[in-house]
Amino acid sequence: MNFSTSKALHDEALNHIVGGVNSPSRAYKGVGGGTPVYMDHGKGAYFWDVDGNQYIDYLGAYGPIITGHGHPHIAEAISNAAKTGVLYGTPTKLENQFAKMLKSAIPSLEKVRFTNSGTEAVMTTVRVARAYTGRNKIIKFSGSYHGHFDSVLVEAGSGPATLGTPDSAGIPQSVAEDVITVPFNDTDTFQKAMERWGDEMAAVLVEPIVGNFGIVKPHDGFLKRVNDIAHDAGSLVIYDEVITAFRFTYGSAQQIYGVTPDMTAMGKIIGGGLPIGAYGGRQDIMEQVAPLGPAYQSGTMAGNPASMASGIACLEVLQEPRVYEELDRLGERLENGILEKASEAGIPISVNRMCGALTVYFGTDSVENYDEADASDGDAFARFFHLMLEEGINLAPSKFEAWFLTTEHTDEDINATIEAAGKAFAAMTE
Ligand code: PLP
Repeated sequence: MNFSTSKALHDEALNHIVGGVNSPSRAYKGVGGGTPVYMDHGKGAYFWDVDGNQYIDYLGAYGPIITGHGHPHIAEAISNAAKTGVLYGTPTKLENQFAKMLKSAIPSLEKVRFTNSGTEAVMTTVRVARAYTGRNKIIKFSGSYHGHFDSVLVEAGSGPATLGTPDSAGIPQSVAEDVITVPFNDTDTFQKAMERWGDEMAAVLVEPIVGNFGIVKPHDGFLKRVNDIAHDAGSLVIYDEVITAFRFTYGSAQQIYGVTPDMTAMGKIIGGGLPIGAYGGRQDIMEQVAPLGPAYQSGTMAGNPASMASGIACLEVLQEPRVYEELDRLGERLENGILEKASEAGIPISVNRMCGALTVYFGTDSVENYDEADASDGDAFARFFHLMLEEGINLAPSKFEAWFLTTEHTDEDINATIEAAGKAFAAMTE
């Protein structure tokens, strides 16, 4: 494939935009380098780069694009908003309409508030939990990404339950000291951490189905135990459903597992591709938020008519019959096809999948927590990534990311992808 125009644009970008990208994950650092492909336009499950190459898209813009590119219903909603004014700085009826839609899909949202990003939504839930409980510490699961605000850019390192150390320069150690990190799917370590720090713990922050070290499901009963242990200690439970809300069912992961958090943060899908975040939860907790309570959060663009209209239109598409059944059916076909091709080539992989989202890990039997995902073979993934790109299959450039199917992917796309994977695996054995 010819990537010369992408390369020229990237050389230019490097002169003007730090690192050439506006979000670090778009650079190809996680796949041994290379020039990020510059996309020109998209339609449905496909996009085309600036050199005219066509791809089947499994990046899905890191999750929001579940209805494919340029979906006519969403495009119409955005275009109407553009014509009538994209921002007023006053409340609009669209905000009520969208809030009601979210509440009826996710009953734990007694009250909601819109933000501009998932980061803002999660950040505010943490602030509100601290305001409500009068406590400072939070506990999270290692490898889970919750956005880029200070408190959550903290990992535990190798210790199973340790005081956090910052993952990024510029985060004070004093902030990291209020963050405890424990392995996902490890109830015992969570319990021990809560025995030690529970009376200082404002909240536990949970991705109920992990999307950030690949797709990792909770063990049976894990989420319920986490809820019970947290509540026994007087701590709140915050679900970060920025990836999971409306992805596997019309609703959320909490609905799938029948466990109710105190607060939930959302983003990605609920904006239909425009910037958005939202958080909500129990009324008495949400009443901590200004103007009713002392916890401050605001936003010039929050609840803007364009994002509201786009999000409403996206959820309307997801309400159509058999959307999730079809994502699951195609996801299963893709999973089985990839496993079969890898086995034919003698390449050891494992696949984690939930509905239309999956992750292919190289050199592992199974992945149930971050350490196991981290131990998977990144060099093999990098090779696979570049080979698939050459075959016209666009994946996220990291072994930790998921492949996202959309409502626009077809059986033909899945067949083509399986065939491409077969070629890639064969090339990896040469
Ligand atoms: N929470 C989770 C689970 C995420 O995956 C992400 C982004 O990938 C975020 C929060 C942050 O969302 P945003 O990038 O919209 O700020």
